[in-house]
Amino acid sequence: MAPLTHLLASWVVAVHTTDNPRDTRLVALAGIAPDLDGVGLLVDLTNQALGRPETDYYHLYHHWYGHGLLAALIASVLLAAFAKQRLRVFALSFAMFHLHLLCDLAGSRGPGLKDLWPIYYFGPFRYRPMWVWPHQWPLESWPNQLITLVLFAWSISIALNRGRSIMEVFNRRADTVFVNLLRKWQNQIACAARR
Ligand SMILES: [Zn+2]
Repeated sequence: MAPLTHLLASWVVAVHTTDNPRDTRLVALAGIAPDLDGVGLLVDLTNQALGRPETDYYHLYHHWYGHGLLAALIASVLLAAFAKQRLRVFALSFAMFHLHLLCDLAGSRGPGLKDLWPIYYFGPFRYRPMWVWPHQWPLESWPNQLITLVLFAWSISIALNRGRSIMEVFNRRADTVFVNLLRKWQNQIACAARR
C-alpha cells in the first residue's frame, strides 16, 4: 500500500497504545520504515531527469532489503532506543512493521494481473520463503483508496476528540496549528447548522 496509508494505520494504533507523544511518533514511523528500501526510486528518477544511464534500483531493492524479519528487528531496536517505554515501543514497532508487510501482501500489486509483489521474509539473504497472495489487489485500486479514506476520517476524529493529529509525527507546532484549524472548521459547521 501507499506510505500514507501505512502511516495513518500505524499512527492510529500508536495513539491508542502509547502514553506519550514521543513513543507515538516512533511507533507510527515503524509503520513506514519498510518502505525505506524504496528510496532507489529517487535515484532512478534523478538519473532519468539528468539524462544519465538508466537505473532500476527501485525494482531491484524495494521489498528485498526492507520488507523482512531482519529489517523489522533493526528498525524496532533503533526506534525503541529513542523511546521512553522501550520494551513497549519495541513490541509495537515490530507489530506495526508486520502490519505493513500484511498490507503490502494484500494490496500492492502492479497494473497487470501477474504483477504480484511478493514479500521476502528472509531477504536480503534468502528468496525462500517468498510470500505472495494470488488475489493481491492493485496499489491504485478502490480497496486501498477506501482503507485510506476510512483511516483518514478516523485520524480526523482523533484530532477533534483528543487534540492531536498525524502531524505530530513530523512537527509538534504543525500539529497544534492543524488541530486548531480543524476545531475552528468544526465550530463554523456547528454554527451554520444551528442557523
Ligand atoms: Zn511496503
